[in-house]
Amino acid sequence: MQWTDLKARLLSAGSVSLSGEPADQFIARSSAGPGAGGSGAVFFAMGSHRVKLALDPLSRVEIVHRGNGVADLCFEGTLTRGRLLEPGFHCPDQAFITVTGSCIFNCRYCTVPRLGSRRKTIEEIMGMVESVRHRIGAISITSGVLESIEEEESYVLEVVKHLRIYDLPIGVSIYPTDQTPDRLKELGVAEVKFNLEAATPELFSKMCPGLNYGLIWQVLVRSVQLFGKNRVFSNVIVGLGETDSELETCVKKLTSCGVIPVLRPLNPVADLAGTPRPSAERLKKIFAIHERALAAAGLDPRLAVTMCTNCTGCDLVPGRD
Ligand code: SF4
Repeated sequence: MQWTDLKARLLSAGSVSLSGEPADQFIARSSAGPGAGGSGAVFFAMGSHRVKLALDPLSRVEIVHRGNGVADLCFEGTLTRGRLLEPGFHCPDQAFITVTGSCIFNCRYCTVPRLGSRRKTIEEIMGMVESVRHRIGAISITSGVLESIEEEESYVLEVVKHLRIYDLPIGVSIYPTDQTPDRLKELGVAEVKFNLEAATPELFSKMCPGLNYGLIWQVLVRSVQLFGKNRVFSNVIVGLGETDSELETCVKKLTSCGVIPVLRPLNPVADLAGTPRPSAERLKKIFAIHERALAAAGLDPRLAVTMCTNCTGCDLVPGRD
């Protein structure tokens, strides 16, 4: 089976049961995004490819850890030898840190508002980066919204100012104000990600009450002017109820603006628990659409140095998968 087929199937399954030798050092615990607060996840790698799977003892996918990261993936009657990757913070090769682990908004697919974790101090964040500095190539920052969008932006800017001392590329993904791209650019941030989340404005208003779809588009366009092509990203969730043609329209609109879409298979949690995950067939079909749209716009995900397009754990990424 080719890697893209295998990864599409694994992303559609979404989880794995882990057995064999103790594997604590390989378990990533997430405090950001739709998978936040779960019982952890592992990164299974084959050569330069990788996939991130949530741990679930009842999963139909199994990974047996043989020791020292060597691992066998048992899935659909075949055994594939690979290895487990050690996460930096949240993902391998990066310190991907959630500044504020709570949120005043209530996006229907996200568990962060229910976690109510506190905001990390700048000292804590510096300590986290310091502890993995020897094995990371980038720092990525995301955040919920503690009090207001404006206050969150100011705090994240303060965090970024301190992190510049590490001289690593910094990626930032927060809910923006109309000034966020300019302010991040001024601080020397390398890449930004502002998430559209839904393929259509109608779905967005259903999924993300109180947030502004038009503003995100505006901020994405401004970001490309400032950061350039291949440095601006936007997550769009696959499986919120959009059709393939709506998704294709959204992907093409993003790429023609110079934005690299991150097409994220739905992880059905929070209000969407029970919603089916997208099938492997659909993910492959969308992968082909994504690949064509990027090529037509002259965009190349292999150039990404931070965040999800560099990590590739949770999505099929053209050029990398
Ligand atoms: S793809 Fe993004 S969300 Fe998934 S593990 Fe990597 S950095 Fe985290």
